[in-house]
Formats: sequence, C-alpha cells, structure tokens
Amino acid sequence: MNRRLIAGNWKMNKTPQESIDFIDAFLGKLGDIRDVEVLLIPPYTSLESSGRRLAGSSIGLGAQDLFYEPSGAYTAAISASMLAACGCRHVLVGHSERRHLFGDDDATVGRKLVSALDGGLTPILCIGETLDERRAGAMETVLGSQLDGGLDGVDADAIERVVMAYEPVWAIGTGETATPQQAQEAVAWVRAWLSQRYGVSVAKRLRILYGGSVKPGNATDLVTQPDIDGALVGGASLDPDAFAAIVEAAR
Ligand code: PEP
Repeated sequence: MNRRLIAGNWKMNKTPQESIDFIDAFLGKLGDIRDVEVLLIPPYTSLESSGRRLAGSSIGLGAQDLFYEPSGAYTAAISASMLAACGCRHVLVGHSERRHLFGDDDATVGRKLVSALDGGLTPILCIGETLDERRAGAMETVLGSQLDGGLDGVDADAIERVVMAYEPVWAIGTGETATPQQAQEAVAWVRAWLSQRYGVSVAKRLRILYGGSVKPGNATDLVTQPDIDGALVGGASLDPDAFAAIVEAAR
C-alpha cells in the first residue's frame, strides 16, 4: 500500500499571522506523525512564514500554483525556484479553480507540471469533470484529455515524482461529496489509464488522491477505497480540529 497523503489547500484564505496560528494549533493536536504524509498548501503570501513555523516538523509545505517560466517580466507570476526557496516541496497544478476561473488549459497545465519537475518540486496534478460532463457520460473523455495534456512529455522516470488528484468539479466546495464508490471508480479508471501509459507496476506506486468536500465524517470511507491514496482537502483544512481529524481518519 502507498503511504497516504493528506493535503490541505487553503486557497485565498489566511494571512501570515493566521497561518502561524493555525500551524501552532494543528501541530499541538497532531504531534509527530510519520505514518501519513501531511501537507499544508497556504497562499503565496503565507509560504515563507508557514515554512519557518513548520521547520523541524514532519508536515510538508506546498504551493497552490506556479508559472512555467523560470524568471522574467511576468507580473504577478511565481516560478518553481521561488517556491522551492520558500521551502515548498509540492505544488498544485491544474486545480479546477485555476482551470475554470483563470483559464489554465491542458497545455498550460502540462507546461507548469514540467517546470515544477524541472525545479525539483513534486507536482500534484488535479483533474476532474464537471457535473454536465458527468451527466453527458463524458467523464472518461474529459479525464483522458486532462491526463494527456497534463502529462505531455512526462516519461516513466518523471511520472514517479508526480502525485495525482481526482477532484470532480461538482464536489469541490459544494458540500456534495462523491460517494466512496463513485470516487473509487473514477480513481481506478485514472490508475488504469496510467498503467497503459507507464506500466502496471509504476501506476501502482503512483499516489492518487480524492478531493471534493472531504470532511472528518466522510474521510475514512473515501481514503480506504482500494485505489485512493489520500485526500486533497479545501474547506475543512482551514480548521485545525477538522483537518487533524481527517489526518487521524487516514491513519
Ligand atoms: C479543493 O479545493 O481541492 C477541494 C477539494 O475543496 P473542498 O474540500 O472545499 O471541496
């Protein structure tokens, strides 16, 4: 079994001071935890202070996005090396909010993923279908093209450094969770796609997270599905009690 990963995406929430307050409360609840990998993903403005506060703990730091160029005249953009210098080891790419609100298409997501790898970061590639796409029976087509675009040029060695996250758009921030069966079915489909592209043993080792309204009450049922290796948590990761309870559920 792959080591489970629980990642908390704070989105556009928490000032640097609020981030530190969260970390102090969260570490106090969790103690030293090694059997589950835990990751906090604050906004850019809280990365440095969070990274300092997390130093020496077993909790990792990730960023919510990056730009694919290494440096230059790209106002408001942040590169992989800038994130690494703040202590990040992971970065989300292709989160549905980036795709739908900020126009990241599959080709852009693919370029971001490669630049994350080139910069020594572990990308977490987020994919997922909308409700209309699911109702139209297009889930597999949508996931397939997100995988194709997001992993364009990623070979069998590089894929080992990628984490996948299946996040049905209709379940993100809506309170509507995929049933454990729906989540398992979609994640198994993703793993089968990865097996075809990279081989069965590589695909087995890849971690695939589920994301979409994960809460303390539903986390156990979701993360114990055979193909699900953890969770990407939005809303519930903003509260140290709730997020610690989700981590506990994953243990
Ligand atoms: C997310 O932002 O990746 C997410 C899954 O959000 P929520 O848990 O709030 O649905």
